[in-house]
Amino acid sequence: MTITLHGNEQQKAKYLPMLASDKLGAYSLSEAGAGTDAAAMSCKAKLSEDGTHYLLTGEKMWVTNGVSADIYVLFAKDVDHPDYGVKKHGGTTAFIVEKTFEGFTVGKKEDKLGIRSSDTCTLVLENCKVPVENVLKAPGKGFPIAMNALDNSRIGIAAQGLGIAQGAYESALKYAHEREAFGVPIARHQMITSYLADMATQVEAARLMVYKAAWTKEQHYHHNGHRHSKEASMAKLFAGDTAMWVSERAVQVLGGYGYTTDFPVERFFRDAKITQIYEGTQEVQKLVIARAISKDV
Ligand SMILES: Cc1cc2nc3c(=O)[nH]c(=O)nc-3n(C[C@H](O)[C@H](O)[C@H](O)COP(=O)(O)OP(=O)(O)OC[C@H]3O[C@@H](n4cnc5c(N)ncnc54)[C@H](O)[C@@H]3O)c2cc1C
Repeated sequence: MTITLHGNEQQKAKYLPMLASDKLGAYSLSEAGAGTDAAAMSCKAKLSEDGTHYLLTGEKMWVTNGVSADIYVLFAKDVDHPDYGVKKHGGTTAFIVEKTFEGFTVGKKEDKLGIRSSDTCTLVLENCKVPVENVLKAPGKGFPIAMNALDNSRIGIAAQGLGIAQGAYESALKYAHEREAFGVPIARHQMITSYLADMATQVEAARLMVYKAAWTKEQHYHHNGHRHSKEASMAKLFAGDTAMWVSERAVQVLGGYGYTTDFPVERFFRDAKITQIYEGTQEVQKLVIARAISKDV
């Protein structure tokens, strides 16, 4: 899949080798009061008097891999930008921030329902000193970068939902052929058969939608095709809902055992929920899709 890189040549030369080695990157747009409404962010950036660096203040939230990461793409509003305070997202600027920068601290780590092997935390910025050469594109040009990243990463979350659904379905299928009740494998009881057939169908449909979104993205970047926002949102919406529905059915197929940690389906069930929330909630995907289809009228 194509990866969109916004950095200039100097930034790519410095940071891409780091990310290609053992360093992790993280994406920090959200704040406590600015999730869906990302433009409401309150983190601020002020250019230093000698013009060599920005000083960032505020607190970011919900940063996936925020504890383990070394490099962050982090968004804050440049208070000196002419659009600051004029447009809602005015002044939004994307910065490359390193964990070692002065004034940067990793804050509270969240205790989550699922995806517990990936850390999620707040980042605290107290006059965090970021060199001017670490601005992506230009000051005030951050909001389109944030939105563009979401269009692309939604396909990744759709693929995550698909993987969870596939895992849950396979566990349920295997179990249904091993577990006997009333003298036959439960897979031979028609209601269980019906669940399995529906699960298989949903997973297949989700897979095709993920592939279609990835293909549309490729066409957009390499063959002048239309932008993939609608397809990415549709895939994320459908695969996220599929992950939730299939993993819940899988717990049901396993009965009491599905409710324990002895089998993986309870984990799939807990992990599925996040695919309906991050990278834009399901409600947001519907807004994106509705906006796109209204152009067809
Ligand atoms: C585990 C986890 C990891 C995350 N990782 C990252 C990350 O790495 N980087 C990052 O920047 N963010 C990350 N996020 C943040 C995530 O993207 C937000 O939580 C998400 O966008 C929702 O924002 P919110 O939590 O503020 O909910 P809110 O925006 O407060 O929404 C609450 C509810 O209201 C609905 N709603 C809001 N506005 C509308 C509207 N206009 N129309 C209809 N319904 C609406 C929402 O759909 C939702 O149901 C992560 C979140 C979690 C939980």
